[in-house]
Amino acid sequence: MKIIVAKKAGFCFGVKRAIDITFDLAKGSKNGIFTYGPLIHNPQVVEELKQKGISTTDDLYSRNIKTLIIRTHGVSPKVYTETSKMGYNLIDVTCPFVKKAQNFTKRLRDEGYQVLIIGDKNHPEVQGLIGFAGSNVIVADKIKNLKNIKKKIGIIIQTTQSFETLKEIVLEVIATAREVKIYNTICDSTVQRMKETKEIAKKVDLMIIVGGKNSANTNQLVNLSKEACAKVYHLETAEEIEKKWLRKVEKVGISGGASTPQWIINDVIKKIREISGGR
Ligand code: SF4
Repeated sequence: MKIIVAKKAGFCFGVKRAIDITFDLAKGSKNGIFTYGPLIHNPQVVEELKQKGISTTDDLYSRNIKTLIIRTHGVSPKVYTETSKMGYNLIDVTCPFVKKAQNFTKRLRDEGYQVLIIGDKNHPEVQGLIGFAGSNVIVADKIKNLKNIKKKIGIIIQTTQSFETLKEIVLEVIATAREVKIYNTICDSTVQRMKETKEIAKKVDLMIIVGGKNSANTNQLVNLSKEACAKVYHLETAEEIEKKWLRKVEKVGISGGASTPQWIINDVIKKIREISGGR
C-alpha cells in the first residue's frame, strides 16, 4: 500500500511558536498560569499542558490567574484593557499573521471604512478581529449573510479561510459598494496546506485528515478533500482507524490541520502500516 503524507501537515509557524513558548513556561514555576481558551484546537496537546500544570480558563476574572497566555487566535483590545486592570502577567502568543490582520482591521476602521470580516463569527480569531473593527462591522462566510453593506467598505479575511470564499464574497460586494479596499489576510501556511491536500486527495483511494474536530482549518481540509476523493475520514487519533476502511485500498493520503502534532500523524502512519500488514 502506498501512503502519501502531506509535507505541510502538522504545526504551522504560529502554532509551533505558541507551543514552544508555552511548554518553556511549563518548565518553570507553574503557579497560576492559564491559557485564555484552549491554546490550540487539539485536545491531546491541551491535556498534555494540563498534566504539566498549565490549564485553560474562559473566565478572565478568575482569582486563580497570575499569568495569562493569549493564544495564537488573538483577542480584542477590550481583553488587553481588562487584563491590564487585573494586573496579570500577560504572555501574548498571538500569531504575527493574526496581528497583521488586526492592524489592517484597525486601519480600515480609522480610515472610515465599514469593515467586512470574511470568516466564521464564532471563531475566536474573528471574535478578536471584531473588537478592532468598529460598530458597523459585518461578519460573513457566505453570500447569504451579507447584509447592510455600505458604499465604502473594507474587507479582511480570517487567516484560515479559502481564496475561493474571498473571491466569491468580493464579487458580490463590488456589485453594491462604490469604494472597496481589500486586505487578503489568508496566511501562506493555510494556502499551501490546502493546495497540497487537494493535490494528494486527487491521487488516492482514501484520504485521512488528522486534527481536532473543533479545528476550523482541519474541517476545511476535510471539505476540500471530499471534492477530490470519494472516501475521506477525519480523525483525532490513530485509535479511530477502522480495518474496514482499508479494504481494497491501494493508495492512502494523509494530511493534518495546523494544530496537529507530528507524533499523532506518525501514529496514524504506523497504524495504517500495521493494519495493511506491509502490503
Ligand atoms: S494558520 Fe497561519 S495565521 Fe493561523 S496560527 Fe498558523 S501561521 Fe498563524
